[in-house]
Amino acid sequence: MLKDFNTCPTKNVKIKSNFHTHNYMCGHAGGTVSDYVKEAVKFGYEIIGISDHCTHPLNLTSPNYMTVETLQGEYLPQFKHAQNLYGDKINILSAVEIEYFENNDGYYKTLLNHLDYLVMGQHEYVLNGKLKNSFFDGIDEENVIAYCNNVKAGIRSGYFSLVAHPDVIFYNCPAVTQIMANAFEEVVKEAVKYDTVLELNANGIRYHRFHYPTQLLIDLCKKYNAKVIVSSDCHNPKDLCDEYVKRLYAYAINQKLNVVDNIGCK
Ligand SMILES: [Zn+2]
Ligand SMILES: [Zn+2]
Repeated sequence: MLKDFNTCPTKNVKIKSNFHTHNYMCGHAGGTVSDYVKEAVKFGYEIIGISDHCTHPLNLTSPNYMTVETLQGEYLPQFKHAQNLYGDKINILSAVEIEYFENNDGYYKTLLNHLDYLVMGQHEYVLNGKLKNSFFDGIDEENVIAYCNNVKAGIRSGYFSLVAHPDVIFYNCPAVTQIMANAFEEVVKEAVKYDTVLELNANGIRYHRFHYPTQLLIDLCKKYNAKVIVSSDCHNPKDLCDEYVKRLYAYAINQKLNVVDNIGCK
């Protein structure tokens, strides 16, 4: 639990955008692009970016996330449909949430040819040639350092406008050591250096009982005045602008973080 989180008043919170939004295509979310856009219009948002999961280049078959083929055949047509219905009321952007792995530039460039921006969601990383899971394997310094190096390389690549749940590596971490915190501090510094927005993720509160965002992320964003954005990471249209999002936004403002409402698509 973040200190002072529950006491933040949400009454005057006015949210204008959301850049991390899912869709039925990933298999563990509900709703079409239009369903989320409709919800965003209802709350008076100015911009909505839909960013469903996409298969990453080191694992092109599993899990059964979007491929370049289904992106073209099934995902992008949904944006056209939403544009026809709501394009005069809101700015609709297309994106995917995906891991970064070095030496796969062609893959990311292809995605960016079709989409407005990419969200880096580093759910997996490589250690000693093996794919590791960011939710469960961040239990020691070696793993945390490998994750941080992977995310920093992703930031430097220039393909990503937003780093989703940067602190997900601490999800299963029994105790964050000074060496781990130092490695993570370098991630925040890299984001500032390359003007990449870091995310405070409301889904970490909604469905993951405060595993993220962590106090460490908040403290480091404050220390370096890093640009942060509050994302719903909703997997259901009704969660787009729920109490968790509003409270997290109010909290970020209250903490005097450098909260932005746009990501400046790269
Ligand atoms: Zn994610
Ligand atoms: Zn997500």
